[in-house]
Amino acid sequence: MATYNKITPEIAAQLKAVVGERRFFEGEDIDPNYSHDEMPIYGKYLPDVAVDVETTEEVSEIMKICSANKIPVTCRGAGTGLVGGCVPLAGGVVLCTRRMDKILAYDMENLVVRIQPGVLLKDLAADALDHGLMYPPDPGEKTATVGGNISTNAGGMRAVKYGVTRDYVLALTVVLADGRIIELGKSVCKTSSGYSLLHLMVGSEGTLGIITEMTMKLIPKPICDVSCLVPFRDVESCIHSVPKIKLANLDPQSIEFMDADIVTSSAAFTGNPIFPENVNNEEVGASILVTFVGNDEDELDQKMIKLGEVAEEAGALDVLVVATSANKKEAWAARSSFLTAIEADTKLIDEMDVVVPVDKIPDFLIYIRQLGEENGIRIRNFGHAGDGNLHIYCCSNDLEEEEFKKKVKVIMDAAYTKCAELEGQVSGEHSIGHAKMVYLEESVGEDVFKLMGEIKKVFDPDYILNPGKVCDSSLVS
Ligand SMILES: Cc1cc2nc3c(=O)[nH]c(=O)nc-3n(C[C@H](O)[C@H](O)[C@H](O)COP(=O)(O)OP(=O)(O)OC[C@H]3O[C@@H](n4cnc5c(N)ncnc54)[C@H](O)[C@@H]3O)c2cc1C
Repeated sequence: MATYNKITPEIAAQLKAVVGERRFFEGEDIDPNYSHDEMPIYGKYLPDVAVDVETTEEVSEIMKICSANKIPVTCRGAGTGLVGGCVPLAGGVVLCTRRMDKILAYDMENLVVRIQPGVLLKDLAADALDHGLMYPPDPGEKTATVGGNISTNAGGMRAVKYGVTRDYVLALTVVLADGRIIELGKSVCKTSSGYSLLHLMVGSEGTLGIITEMTMKLIPKPICDVSCLVPFRDVESCIHSVPKIKLANLDPQSIEFMDADIVTSSAAFTGNPIFPENVNNEEVGASILVTFVGNDEDELDQKMIKLGEVAEEAGALDVLVVATSANKKEAWAARSSFLTAIEADTKLIDEMDVVVPVDKIPDFLIYIRQLGEENGIRIRNFGHAGDGNLHIYCCSNDLEEEEFKKKVKVIMDAAYTKCAELEGQVSGEHSIGHAKMVYLEESVGEDVFKLMGEIKKVFDPDYILNPGKVCDSSLVS
């Protein structure tokens, strides 16, 4: 079991000397939100000290002090994570990157941008568009930092066409546990140059190093786009349409899935029923929201005609074109607010972010619904149908927290076993944090989990970087 030293007044003074008085926080001056992320059910843990860093050199100095004194350090971006990733389980220092928010330089010849880790996703997306470019990853929470997105390998709604955050990271500056500064990757289109530590760092959740600068790939901005809502009688026919849409070579930018319950919650939350609950006198059981991008309106018209044919054959109740740009904005805003809608009318929430082969989505959803009914827990779900990534929320307004946690554990244990049976993985995009570590171990097996632990030890022999996360069971007695 890992043991750490306390931050003495002398160590505190050294840390303060690095960032200055105004960016050093202790005791009651620490923002209470630093004790949790967006999933407080996984527990609240305050750090002993918080520092707002502004440069790679400052991060390096902080790590040298913490490494010399065996003090744990947990990096925090915007704290929008959903697995307790940025929560300082062992206390120590929270190192916050929110002030490292500069977009440093565009290279228009090579279509890349160099940025600091605290740049918010929404700011990078908007700034790239102003340069005639697009940053393709599009996770739902736009106020997350891009550093956080890289550290969790965030996915989002456009992953079916463009891939995930990892696919857009070309180079990183990283501060290691002992304060050394290393450069990983280059601004090149391909590489076959030894082990890819760059790709290992992506998705490592602050357990292997602290990312202080990154070079991200961009693409030319698509010229036009169109979104269509395709309602079905039930989940099965809805999901079975997804491979057909892909096989028809329609290359959708997104295919988002929503069932009837989440549509009702969303309408109640926004007060604006964007997604229909009845179509042609039939109750809608589930829908997909599909987006295409293209170079001109003709190309999009052809895609919509083909979508109509495929959807009809798959048993869709209709294909509703989200026509005006105002409607499009509303539809995607409603889709993006599903989690917020659930949070608004729920006292206790826990979540699962499994990914299964696309054709297994109905099997998993039917199973989880049954589990919810058997255990008296309300299940809400939605997800990225195009890539099999499902967001399942266990909700309750009536149960006491301890009772809720007990029942949810029964559901989670069974659901992750089912996910493994269906050849799925524990997390599609929200990552592991500490909340899902036990399920990761079960899923990947003893040998792989042990290898992950050995890699962690090479990077961080004293386990000071984000203790207790991903594969680090050093806090477990
Ligand atoms: C409403 C809502 C919708 C969401 N939708 C999506 C979605 O569609 N897709 C998706 O993938 N996620 C989604 N998320 C989850 C969350 O936004 C992502 O996990 C995001 O990437 C976290 O970024 P952050 O800046 O908030 O990081 P934090 O929560 O602060 O940290 C997350 C992890 O990254 C580490 N970290 C942060 N910055 C660094 C750094 N510079 N160096 C090293 N480690 C670092 C932390 O230590 C921690 O382990 C959603 C969350 C909410 C609340």
